[in-house]
Amino acid sequence: MDPRRALPSVDALLGDPALGPAVEAHGREAVKQSVRRVLEGLRKDPAALEGDADEALRGLILADVERAAAPSLRAIVNGTGVVLHTNLGRAPLAEEAIAAAARAAGYGNVEYALETGERGSRYDHCVGLLRELAGTDAALVTNNNAAAVSLCVNELSAGRETIVSRGELVEIGGSFRIPDVVARSGAILREVGTTNRTRLTDYSAAVGADTGVLLRVHPSNYRVEGFADRPTIDELVELSRDTGLPLVHDIGSGLLRTDLLPGFPPEPTVAESVSAGADLVTLSGDKLLGGPQAGLIVGRADLIARLRRNPLLRAFRVDKTTLAALEATLLLHRDPEVASRRIPTLRMLRETAESVERRARAGLEEALAGAPPPAGLSIARTEAVVGGGSFPGFALPSAGWVVAAGRAGGSPDALAAVCRGLRPPLIGRIHDGDFTVDVRTVPEGHEAAAAALLLEAVGKSGDGGS
Ligand SMILES: *Cc1c(COP(=O)(O)O)cnc(C)c1O
Repeated sequence: MDPRRALPSVDALLGDPALGPAVEAHGREAVKQSVRRVLEGLRKDPAALEGDADEALRGLILADVERAAAPSLRAIVNGTGVVLHTNLGRAPLAEEAIAAAARAAGYGNVEYALETGERGSRYDHCVGLLRELAGTDAALVTNNNAAAVSLCVNELSAGRETIVSRGELVEIGGSFRIPDVVARSGAILREVGTTNRTRLTDYSAAVGADTGVLLRVHPSNYRVEGFADRPTIDELVELSRDTGLPLVHDIGSGLLRTDLLPGFPPEPTVAESVSAGADLVTLSGDKLLGGPQAGLIVGRADLIARLRRNPLLRAFRVDKTTLAALEATLLLHRDPEVASRRIPTLRMLRETAESVERRARAGLEEALAGAPPPAGLSIARTEAVVGGGSFPGFALPSAGWVVAAGRAGGSPDALAAVCRGLRPPLIGRIHDGDFTVDVRTVPEGHEAAAAALLLEAVGKSGDGGS
């Protein structure tokens, strides 16, 4: 018999009690779509129905319903050792920030003054904390730092020139390119100096009646070494004072103070830039600050007041859940000891290699529960990195689980693919043919679960191999 004749109708299937729970959970329309999709597939490929055709058909439909309802955005286990991983969501939020975002998700006083019952401004939230932490008179929050820079350039320099050193005309991951940002913000880019050397006189010679703003950009993930020089921020501040032109400093990575990351190489901080006298400092919320995706602008009250009136701000508007998560993160930053303990980014960056190794060992032991580790799997020292364009070239001694190259049972690429297919997916990295899961980026308390995922993957990838 032609199996196509045996296929039940859509309506018959929707009435099937076996699909009842799926209809209950996902709705009749969603299940109907799956039924249609599966029946269509079977008309093209009747052989896909094996064994008990009725049962197989229901199985296919239920699997399709689950697939269609699975969220595209999923939690993963970051075993890459890249703390601020641009592709894996950058900064993981502190528990306090997650709770605050959840609280803010419903109704809230986002733009409402509770004292008077009148309209308030979302841009008033976080300002007090940012003033305290940055030591400035004013602050403004946008939806990311790219928006913050764009807003500053537009307000201070639209139709006029923005002076930038050629050494700072960088592209930062995700196609944030300074020349394009300046141009799209309505300003004319005035490049000064060369790629490796820019002098203060290059800036002063370029200043003229058409100049709108001096823009200093932290090159972040890019470094010029050797015969390289550029004016200090103090020198630029002096030029800014002499010429009356505002100086905007995009520090990018968002470190508040150097003491938050002892032993790390120098990275521009908010404190340093503000105390030097930059008029506006912009930074990301989800890099070294360890908060949600946001752009922070701190600095002179008169300039911030102008930014707040700029119509572009409406397009760069920060969301209420972001504001809440940012506020919670900033609250933790009020005490450096609390910040380094409670903010995952700082905690991961500050953890010693010995401590990471201890966690790797304990997690693996717990997951093995007395069984011997599979051949080729060991605990080893690794090198983690900060990521997010911060501290390029700086390696953090770390530790993790390494599945050696040449292990029987499959290539590291195959193992990586199996790991990505787990629930939750485990993302590692391949180095010299070894597959490595760095435990620095595995949150405390999750080591055993992460080790169990790796063991599962090693078992699976071993089945088909050797
Ligand atoms: C990361 C970075 C940006 C972009 O910030 P987003 O928050 O990702 O928009 C801009 N400038 C610098 C210097 C950066 O490092």
